[in-house]
Amino acid sequence: TLALKQLSKTFEGSKALQNVSLQMKDGQTTVILGPSGSGKSTLLRCINLLELPEKGKLQLGDLQIDFEQKITNKVKQKLRRNTAMVFQEFNLFSHLTAVENVMEGPVTVLRQDKDQAAQHAKELLEQVGLSDKYDSYPSRLSGGQQQRVAIARALAMEPQYLLFDEPTSALDPELEIEVLRVLQELAHERLSMVLVTHNIDFARLVADRIVFLEEGKIDFDGSATAFFASEDPRIRRFIHSLK
Ligand code: ATP
Ligand code: MG
Repeated sequence: TLALKQLSKTFEGSKALQNVSLQMKDGQTTVILGPSGSGKSTLLRCINLLELPEKGKLQLGDLQIDFEQKITNKVKQKLRRNTAMVFQEFNLFSHLTAVENVMEGPVTVLRQDKDQAAQHAKELLEQVGLSDKYDSYPSRLSGGQQQRVAIARALAMEPQYLLFDEPTSALDPELEIEVLRVLQELAHERLSMVLVTHNIDFARLVADRIVFLEEGKIDFDGSATAFFASEDPRIRRFIHSLK
């Protein structure tokens, strides 16, 4: 499990997250929804320690962090290794091919044997539909293909949790579909994922659970069915605004 307890994060006096508590079950896809500025990215970034909350606790497997205490580098590394993040921008190394991008983490961080890492990288690229692009540089790939390399790279680290922050919002609709298809497959394979998206139809399709954030607070936490049937006027308005 991945559990957050009473997490609070403030930026220059403005509260991005207020006492957020959330427990994610392994093998589930949790979709985070909410208006712009509601704290969705901040929430993901806190899980990955790209941001440090002032207070609260985080638990991932046997790893426990209390943000009011000093966090050792060892704990930080272990958490990062187990929570791979895929961003809106594709963030690939431009001087490395697709295979090299995917094997970089396993080789440098996990100290995997190079041949073995390359073999695994190819399998992952095949899984995301890129078996003909092993040796392509990012500049030769479409946005959708680059994002699929980024997903393969996240998978290569075999993290306990995969975190996605609007992974398709920089893509044209026809390229978005191929990335969504990959994400849907991962959800079917019961990987543990937390996904921020504005694509409400996709949320309905893959979410085992929906968390709705507003002004840094959780306003709804429940099944997709319950979310879309909710009569809460704020939720209705939000769903309507994305249609
Ligand atoms: P969007 O849908 O637009 O991506 P979001 O829900 O991801 O929005 P966040 O990026 O988490 O929202 O931002 C939450 C709040 O924290 C916003 O008010 C934002 O301005 C503020 N914020 C986020 N990052 C920083 C930062 N590095 N410095 C100052 N304020 C920040
Ligand atoms: Mg965001």
